[in-house]
Amino acid sequence: MEKVSQKKNSEGQKVSNTPQCPVVKKCGGCKGFGLSYNQQLQKKVKVLEEQCGQFGKFEPIAGMKNPYHYRNKVHAVFGEDRRHNIISGIYEEGTHRIVPVDSCLLEDKRADEIIVSIRGLLKSFKIRPYHEDTGYGLFRHVLIRTGYATGQIMVVLVLASPILPSKNNFVKALLKLHPEITTIVLNVNSKDTSMILGEKETVLYGKGYIEDTLLGKTFRISSRSFYQVNPVQTEKLYQKAIAYADLSGKETVLDAYCGTGTIGLIASGSAKEVIGVELNSAAVKDARINAKQNRVSNIMFYEKDAGEFIRQMAEQQASVDVVFMDPPRAGSTEVFLDSLVTLKPKRIVYVSCNPETLARDLRYLKRKGYRMAKGAGVDMFPWTSSIEAVVLLTPQKR
Ligand code: SAH
Repeated sequence: MEKVSQKKNSEGQKVSNTPQCPVVKKCGGCKGFGLSYNQQLQKKVKVLEEQCGQFGKFEPIAGMKNPYHYRNKVHAVFGEDRRHNIISGIYEEGTHRIVPVDSCLLEDKRADEIIVSIRGLLKSFKIRPYHEDTGYGLFRHVLIRTGYATGQIMVVLVLASPILPSKNNFVKALLKLHPEITTIVLNVNSKDTSMILGEKETVLYGKGYIEDTLLGKTFRISSRSFYQVNPVQTEKLYQKAIAYADLSGKETVLDAYCGTGTIGLIASGSAKEVIGVELNSAAVKDARINAKQNRVSNIMFYEKDAGEFIRQMAEQQASVDVVFMDPPRAGSTEVFLDSLVTLKPKRIVYVSCNPETLARDLRYLKRKGYRMAKGAGVDMFPWTSSIEAVVLLTPQKR
């Protein structure tokens, strides 16, 4: 599947080292096909400059040495073709038709192999895949999460109803084929929904979660928790963010939109104290466990809307030296940014997965007296069009 092409594209540019994927068009995830990896990086730099270059200078983008098979979270949907053969893969872009995929250039190879094996087991165990249109059938999705540094592997089997026939034998057979699996979870999703996971879960084997390490700290990852999908680049991103924060050990640090507490926990060793705020309750639970596991005692996590939380901090005239903020694609809010400015931090480190909302928020902060001191792109998602960046803001000198 990974043939190397030596062709030229329509603009006459060499596309050597561009691997071929048989479903590139139907899948639509890889917008970088036809370009070399270097050309993709330059394209991302251009977008970042166009959107945010007016606010300050960017350092060279950090790309990957080997930009393949980086995804530590892999999903496959199961169904049937016209001849009632079981298929697994991804949804065709913009539809609910399944494109069969056995291996993807972006996904962890071990995960893809496990998915193919599960497809074989469904046949031998006579387990029928679920049909979205009719609601018949049982087996809906497989979600696999892998720990890059630990090698741990979690397999989540998503069923439409709670009973997996011959459950114990199925688990035994899967472990025999893949002894590298460290935990297997059964998730029940009986709803007519495009969400992959349902609410109910039982652990069939192992601990029910995996762990991974980033910059010397260990993190617990459960089926639903948010964890960056490219661990190699995440370390570069966090390293850059922490370098920009320039901590001396005396600072009070706010980690806003903190997820499972990764940035704050890694920064905690060079700060006096860290306050983390996050809306998702499962993530906050994981963050607190992560603090305990890593024996970090100078960090507190709050389950709250980041805007509401920082507004209260500003009202109470709390003292904050450095703020990390890592909002979702929609960016931050005026409520958050207004209070952020009121707190007068010495440094704001803004981690963004969307240059468009980053530009909007940088413009707003500039009007309020914070300017971009420097920034850097980190390619978290090679072959896709997603762009990640980190920016340092400091108070404008008057
Ligand atoms: N910094 C973390 C998570 C970044 S993803 C990491 O690097 O892993 C963005 C996070 O913002 C998600 O965990 C999401 O649940 C959270 N979030 C979204 N809206 C929020 C809000 N209004 N208040 C607080 N957190 C929010």
